[in-house]
Amino acid sequence: MRLILLGPPGSGKGTQAQRLVQRYGIVQLSTGEMLRAAVAAETPVGLKAKDLMANGQLVPDDIVVGIISDRIDQPDAAKGFVLDGFPRTVPQAEALDELLKKKHLRLDAVVELRVNESALLQRVETRVAEMLARGEEVRVDDTPEVLTKRLAAYRSQTEPLIHYYSERRKLATVDGMMTIEQVTREVNRILSAVGALEPKLAPARKAKAAARKTARPAAKKAAKTAKKAVKTARKAAKPASRGAKTAGNKKAARKAVSAARGRGGASAQKTVRKAAKKVTKKRAKR
Ligand code: AMP
Repeated sequence: MRLILLGPPGSGKGTQAQRLVQRYGIVQLSTGEMLRAAVAAETPVGLKAKDLMANGQLVPDDIVVGIISDRIDQPDAAKGFVLDGFPRTVPQAEALDELLKKKHLRLDAVVELRVNESALLQRVETRVAEMLARGEEVRVDDTPEVLTKRLAAYRSQTEPLIHYYSERRKLATVDGMMTIEQVTREVNRILSAVGALEPKLAPARKAKAAARKTARPAAKKAAKTAKKAVKTARKAAKPASRGAKTAGNKKAARKAVSAARGRGGASAQKTVRKAAKKVTKKRAKR
């Protein structure tokens, strides 16, 4: 499963992404998280991104596209991923299309979490309070001033993606003002509707399908053994038929059956018995 969560800061992308990770075993690819790690580690990317992030501005496209391309190649992303905070511009979306195409990967859906802007400041304030309560370091860009700039960046650079993905029939919009549970349910419903989930079979059907799967090779083997045994039966019946004695034919057939026994299952033996009988009849007629 591969999907994008689209929405302004504080719309609940991170929360929903975490739930998808837990439910489906996919990975969350958050460019914001990766960039914060790069800033903390003072890598060359981190040094370039640091001030831009602190000011609520976007980091250059080539940097984030490079990060995402490398990350998608990691083995843990093979099962699927949810992109959180990427793409954020049309050129990033185009670059993503291109790199998915090159890697022969399909994007299942883009889920937009639509929220009232007036609620966002409150949400971010709550997030800050919760992080402080957990003793975590608060993000430098989670202040009312920087949030205003991040929202402006979202409106001018990221919102055009709604049109971009809608045109490509990938977009589904969810009311992000609902409770977390309701949003999760809606996201799951969408994923199911677009066929991003493996079909869930009812337990009885599942057991049947599993049994069929294991039974298939055994049945094949039995059929093969039966075929072989029929050949043996024919061979065994031949010399007896030369004498044209029914009793001799019967004996040969019995011999063939016992030769097949132990090599095939019950059905194989039945097939052999039938074949041997046929051969005996035929020879006797001559
Ligand atoms: P986030 O954690 O998604 O809110 O991102 C925090 C900050 O990281 C953003 O305000 C940007 O400065 C930077 N950032 C994250 N993702 C991207 C992206 N896809 N393109 C450009 N900048 C990004």
